[in-house]
Amino acid sequence: MSIRSRVGTLPAHEPFLLAGEWIPAGDRALREVVDPATQEVLTTVADATAADVDAAVAAAVAAHADRRWRGMAPLDRARILNRVADLIEADLEELAILETRDNGKPIERSRADTASAARTFRHFAGAPSRLGGSVIPIDGGAHHVYTVLEPIGPVAIILPWNFPIMTAAFKLAPALAAGCPVVAKPAEDTPLTLLRLAKILQEAGVPDGVVSVLTGDGEVGAALSAHPGIAKISFTGSTEVGRLVAHAAADDFTRVTLELGGKSPNIVFEDADLDAAVLTAMRASFGHSGQMCTAGSRLLVQRSILEEMTERLAAAVRRVPVGDGLDGGITVGPLVSEEQRQRVLGYIEKGIDEGATLVAGGGTREPGFYVEPTLFSGVTNDMTIAREEIFGPVVGIIAFDDEADAVRIANDTRYGLAAGVWTRDLSRAHRMAAAIDAGTVWINTYNVFDPALSFGGVGESGLGRDLGDEGLLGFCESKSVVIAI
Ligand code: NAD
Repeated sequence: MSIRSRVGTLPAHEPFLLAGEWIPAGDRALREVVDPATQEVLTTVADATAADVDAAVAAAVAAHADRRWRGMAPLDRARILNRVADLIEADLEELAILETRDNGKPIERSRADTASAARTFRHFAGAPSRLGGSVIPIDGGAHHVYTVLEPIGPVAIILPWNFPIMTAAFKLAPALAAGCPVVAKPAEDTPLTLLRLAKILQEAGVPDGVVSVLTGDGEVGAALSAHPGIAKISFTGSTEVGRLVAHAAADDFTRVTLELGGKSPNIVFEDADLDAAVLTAMRASFGHSGQMCTAGSRLLVQRSILEEMTERLAAAVRRVPVGDGLDGGITVGPLVSEEQRQRVLGYIEKGIDEGATLVAGGGTREPGFYVEPTLFSGVTNDMTIAREEIFGPVVGIIAFDDEADAVRIANDTRYGLAAGVWTRDLSRAHRMAAAIDAGTVWINTYNVFDPALSFGGVGESGLGRDLGDEGLLGFCESKSVVIAI
């Protein structure tokens, strides 16, 4: 039964958090937050102003200077981060429902994302007391030399709409574990779970001024990216905006981590377990309506099994459950906005115009911003639908002849976020893992994440890593101390 009948109404307005205070809209511009499944207005948020950005950064700079967070004993910081994880877990169902109402994604996906956010805080709660340095022998004893890892300073976190709570945790947890104050900005379409998470951080005992959450659009992001008070920007979003962030940051040598787009190949060899490959290809392509940076949107299939795979995939695509994410058992919910739907429909038209064969889907459904799961065959790697990130439930089958051909096609992209390989040949699996230019290669699986495992891309998919030890070190600077004996 749908959860929708049980959800209540939200307050007419959600304030934002600035330096420990919840700020009502006042005379700031208001923005409607819309439920993508019903097109109903859920609540409003304000656009933070340039003065709000200055005030939030000033609060973060002050918190860094007076050491109210980084000066806390590591185990005390750890206790607070563990409490955040506890509170997320205690609130899991409510947070998941809020995520689905805000973003449209199936409720099972929102539950998994929220659980992942809790796990991420739990994982990085173990970090503060592990952030040690080392002693370096340089000259046989004339100097005592050691290194320390220090928090990098005030951090700006800029987030996308496709994984609001999960990407927030991917960045907030390691930044806080490292001892950094944070100014975070959710995407304009999906601010609600980060605002709720900010309340949880306060309740868990994060001191005032250490975390601010500013709502608003790209202007807020741009002001943060160019702000001289910010030491590091951790951004997840499109490659186009990532480039703007990197340019803005360059003036002050502000450090950046950029998690950007992808056009990931999911490669099926003739010796693969085809049942598993088809099932997982459905999830890799259509999970969260394809609005995943890691979407396996180029489905490379070996020519010898092309016909069989196309038939199996077509049958599977027609069975993918489409509907309101709160109904349960749904794979493809609505897209996040009408604008996003129009973009995706534009790509479907382009696929047909450039000569790909529309095997299934391509239509829409109302009300709500739905696009049917869509399968193209006869796609070549030079077509627009094989080159550009669509960010919708659209996948194209590209034929390949042999291993070398698969590698050539897989790497013929400006992106390099992830890849999937399906084969029973262990040697081939290792050869493919070595040959593919991507941040992550999944063999006989897809979309497996863990807070202990760093995640990010090569090429235009990004710079630096979230999660894992690399993600944590991205919020630290190393200092060398040299003492004459
Ligand atoms: P987007 O780039 O449009 O927006 C991301 C964020 O940047 C938003 O908060 C937006 O308000 C802000 N922004 C807009 N203009 C800005 C500017 N000039 N300066 C600073 N900030 C600005 O991306 P989106 O549409 O929200 O998200 C989808 C994109 O995110 C896709 O390309 C997807 O692949 C990518 N993504 C990547 C990962 C990853 O880990 N690699 C994860 C999720 C999403």
